[in-house]
Amino acid sequence: MADIIKLLPDHVANQIAAGEVVQRPASVVKELLENAIDAGATIIKLIVKDGGKTLIQVVDNGIGMSETDARLSFERHATSKISDAQDLFNLRTKGFRGEALASIAAIAHVDMQTRKESSDVGTHIKIEGSKVMFQEVVATPSGTSISVKNLFFNIPARRNFLKSHQVELRHIMDEFHRVALVHPKIAFHLYNNGSEIFNLPVTSFRKRIVNVFGSKMDERLVPVHEETEVVQISGFVCKPEFAKKSRGEQFFFANDRFIKSPYLHHAVVNAFEGLIKPDTYPGYFLYLQVDPKSIDINIHPTKTEVKFDDEHTLYAILRSSVKHSLGQFSVAPVLDFDRDSNLDTPYAFENKTAILPKVTVDSSFNPFDNVVAKTKGDSSYQKQSAKGWENLYEGLDTLNPEKDFSSFEIESETAVQSSLYAEEDLTQETGVTFQLQRKYVVSTVKSGLLVIHQNRAHQRVLFEKFLGEITVEKGLGQQLLFPLEVHFTAQERAILEEIQDSLNNVGFQFEDLAKETVKVTAVPAMISESKIGTVLDLLIADFKEGFRNEGVSQAELLAQGLAKNLAIKSGEVLNEESQMALLHDLFACKEPTLSPKLKKTYTIISEGDVEKKLL
Ligand code: ADP
Ligand code: MG
Repeated sequence: MADIIKLLPDHVANQIAAGEVVQRPASVVKELLENAIDAGATIIKLIVKDGGKTLIQVVDNGIGMSETDARLSFERHATSKISDAQDLFNLRTKGFRGEALASIAAIAHVDMQTRKESSDVGTHIKIEGSKVMFQEVVATPSGTSISVKNLFFNIPARRNFLKSHQVELRHIMDEFHRVALVHPKIAFHLYNNGSEIFNLPVTSFRKRIVNVFGSKMDERLVPVHEETEVVQISGFVCKPEFAKKSRGEQFFFANDRFIKSPYLHHAVVNAFEGLIKPDTYPGYFLYLQVDPKSIDINIHPTKTEVKFDDEHTLYAILRSSVKHSLGQFSVAPVLDFDRDSNLDTPYAFENKTAILPKVTVDSSFNPFDNVVAKTKGDSSYQKQSAKGWENLYEGLDTLNPEKDFSSFEIESETAVQSSLYAEEDLTQETGVTFQLQRKYVVSTVKSGLLVIHQNRAHQRVLFEKFLGEITVEKGLGQQLLFPLEVHFTAQERAILEEIQDSLNNVGFQFEDLAKETVKVTAVPAMISESKIGTVLDLLIADFKEGFRNEGVSQAELLAQGLAKNLAIKSGEVLNEESQMALLHDLFACKEPTLSPKLKKTYTIISEGDVEKKLL
């Protein structure tokens, strides 16, 4: 029988390898930037068009390549960075596999011009799909310029898999940040479709972080510093009060390389324990230096996963040094010469002692009693609260929106049916509603007691409203008398631009989206002016997360985000009118039974349920 095993031709092998190295334009950006850094460049320009799908170009002023090296650099396993296996344990460069250029050239049109400072003329090479189109002598500045066009031109499946320009641009910016943050002594420029997005001059670590993430970052940073035999740690954590719901501003660098490490992340989060709310993440920029022998970066081709020899020790050191810094930061006295003295305690109040608020509990309160509920519910609350602020605390200790009342979450089998309520005649019953635990709106229906989760229900109502506005017909915005200026980072602005059309449809209007301070000129009618900044911040944070989470359309994601941020919260007091409105709006929805995140919006406690309980 004939032998059947054949060696793959080089261009096929390269294409296969490319699949590992190049997933999207951002992967090319990473490889080219790293090559420029390895070449000792001090100024690096990154130029992209259409999210890198049309063009990715990196221009550096590094050492350049000789004519032969220029040609060899596109061969697989051709590298100047290691020569034997031993070198792998002493890596000081970012590249070492010698696969990147070969892989990129296999799946794109690559044009390279390079010159060493010592030679008079440079080399110009053009390669398309691993085929050298030409190589010629050229007059060019010293350093290297590589442009990559038509990525995946010969792999349509890959090309089709790419996301929108803006999404790809965001991935590119992620890579750009990772590289720029750890090399403040290199100047970086990023241009997208002809306009400059970043111009990062040579500076310190701290200033680089601020230049990337915007000036508001400066006051948030707390320095971390630790030197031990195992590791040197430097960098910053963000003050606990700036912990965010979304991940994003978390950066570890090991030996000048961006790394991901859930284990070390845990160490940092652990150090923040008790200082931040659950479900929020602290921001950090931590630079670790370890002996190159004690770190293995070879375990993954895209090289963000690493393995440390002594992870446990590293964990402990990291945790304690972050804790130490946080401790110092909070006990250190603040010397603030710009402090507004008007903010200090007024003279006359200095010697007074604070009066503890009184807490009175109405032990006779019975939520199931409609009559009582009506007088003790929200409307009476408002009347009383006018009398004195102490009343604000009334009933507070019975209010525990998260924990209490879990018995109401127990659903009977027939409880949730979307058609159920529609068939009932609402007005036929008492039409009375009341609020329970400031979390539920309760009403009576034919088959029993209807308990609506006010937050989820309102999310459903708003979700359908916004989704309709985005996809079917525009909603009305309210013009602001004075445009509101909101500060965003470049990445946040890229997200804003991406969702701008949908935001316009629900009533937002923006000006100066290209500048660091964006002007908001109109907002949806239901957003109060003081909330605009927060709502936009939260929306953007959702999107940062969301674009990793495939399968949800942009319109849905935005409607979900707006609904989540604007919906009535648990703990919010609703007057009778709002309770009624919520009830009607909910059952006017297409899908009243479930919140946008597919949690139940209401349950019905039937007479049978009550009877069972009373057995
Ligand atoms: P690696 O970086 O793993 O060595 P690459 O395929 O990325 O592999 O690059 C191959 C070689 O080409 C490098 O080892 C280096 O010698 C050379 N090279 C690539 N980019 C540059 C550049 N911008 N300036 C100078 N030399 C470069
Ligand atoms: Mg490389």
